[in-house]
Amino acid sequence: MIFKLFGKKKESVPSESSSQEMKEEATISMSGKKYVAAIDQGTTSTRCMLFTKDGKPAGSYQMEHEQIFPHPGWVEHNAMEIWSRTQDVIRGALAAVNASPDEIAAVGITNQRETTVVWEKSTGKPIYNAIVWQCTRTQDFCAEWLKKPGWGQNEKGEGKVKDITGLLINPYFSGTKIRWILDNVPGAREKAEKGELLFGNTDTWLIWNLTGGVNGGVHVTDVSNASRTLLMNIETCEWDKTMMDELKVPASMLPKIMPSSSVYGYTTESGPFGAKIPVAGDLGDQQAALFGQACLSEGEAKNTYGTGCFMLMNIGDKPIPSKNGLLTTAFYSREKGKCYYALEGSIAIAGAAIQWLRDNLKMVDDAPVTEYYAGKVKDSAGIYFVPAFSGLFAPYWDMTARGAIVGLTRYVRKEHIIRATLESLCYQTRDVIEAMEKDSCKKLTALKVDGGAVVNNLLMQLQADILGADVVRPVVNETTALGAAYAAGLAVGFWKDEGDIRANWAQDHKFTPELEASEREKAYAGWKKAIEKSRAWTD
Ligand code: ADP
Repeated sequence: MIFKLFGKKKESVPSESSSQEMKEEATISMSGKKYVAAIDQGTTSTRCMLFTKDGKPAGSYQMEHEQIFPHPGWVEHNAMEIWSRTQDVIRGALAAVNASPDEIAAVGITNQRETTVVWEKSTGKPIYNAIVWQCTRTQDFCAEWLKKPGWGQNEKGEGKVKDITGLLINPYFSGTKIRWILDNVPGAREKAEKGELLFGNTDTWLIWNLTGGVNGGVHVTDVSNASRTLLMNIETCEWDKTMMDELKVPASMLPKIMPSSSVYGYTTESGPFGAKIPVAGDLGDQQAALFGQACLSEGEAKNTYGTGCFMLMNIGDKPIPSKNGLLTTAFYSREKGKCYYALEGSIAIAGAAIQWLRDNLKMVDDAPVTEYYAGKVKDSAGIYFVPAFSGLFAPYWDMTARGAIVGLTRYVRKEHIIRATLESLCYQTRDVIEAMEKDSCKKLTALKVDGGAVVNNLLMQLQADILGADVVRPVVNETTALGAAYAAGLAVGFWKDEGDIRANWAQDHKFTPELEASEREKAYAGWKKAIEKSRAWTD
């Protein structure tokens, strides 16, 4: 199959960065192409996966990176380490599959969203560690901003930030993190105003490096990532002047917003692929999972259980505002001017609570063993663990909440605490689903799930019990990487259309509720009480 890359798409390529071979017309033959490569740059690790035409992983390679906690509530990553790991995992995945670069049709990127990298255009060096999405350092700034009339939400849920961006005032998003870097790194603001600095989430950072870095790398992002910055207008999908002025972010440092499925540039021969391959897909991790789960029709939803939990529902091509504490976010776009949207309920701490049991409390040696310990007890002995380490996200959005374990008695053992930790993922998910049902006026009968933690069968059964709905796990659980692969493969004709994606989705297991409805509601009422105990802890 021959696919024409340019022509129609040519005008959407950023002029500044089209110094690569992008100016000339090019054709790519799909004959001999066996794989699409996806780079999944997550919060705890980076992995590269190669997918075949039937949407199955042929092989992958994954490496963790350091989590840096300079102060309570602050979370950073070393962006150079992330780039270095990315190169290693690409080489590792190619070796694992014994794939030659000629067999790779395209590269797609998916990434931890909101995590903020600012680097020097001329040297390619970050001027500060990447500030991670979970970081609460801009809490005070947000609290002041909320007091400014008209910006935060009123009782009707309306306010300038929500109206323009679909988001709300919270340290979670990139905008206040960029501002923090420009205000706190010596000389940064002057450099930014001279146009010497570039901003990107880790998608942008990796695409820039993969396509040549200081030697003509393309500076782009896609609508799904841009919609998480507080700087993108949710209606137009362009950078918004009002938001840029309010957050004091100069236009020169912002990447060009592109469709999620589009050829942005090419990997370099001297880079980790060792060949020129189109970089053609870019989706924030949660939108990528929604895409990889084939939730391509309005009303379809999925929940991803990773470091955080993220529930997204496809709402079609209009950015409907939420009245119940959810975010309106760009889902994906395949051509400029046509965007699909999602409602999102974000939960900051999910699998991270399990990591905390492992790393801080040393209660378990690894995450999978939680299934064994939690299964040794029949319930959690009436305790609840609210893991509000970074405040509470959806649907509460309470920056003043902090973690709490309530209901403790001398009867409680480590197994109960571990079980309550697993349950906390499920209760938080139910909170979000209740909000989503109110916003969409639809009752969810089945939930598609994915992410690192869904291999835990007990967790999935607890979720079905707490929700009172079926929980459906697909065969290919790496839907985040798969979604990025689909975006890239669609752009070059490796997959024909969305019908190919739907046809590839297959169920692995369905978990059905076993708990009596009255038990379920009693347990959920206890959770609501526990939530109240965790709130208003900090000022
Ligand atoms: P991310 O992409 O956010 O880095 P992943 O999707 O790779 O996250 O999932 C990793 C998370 O899942 C970790 O927080 C880990 O604690 C949790 N996890 C992994 N395996 C299990 C398991 N068997 N049971 C419970 N939690 C698990």
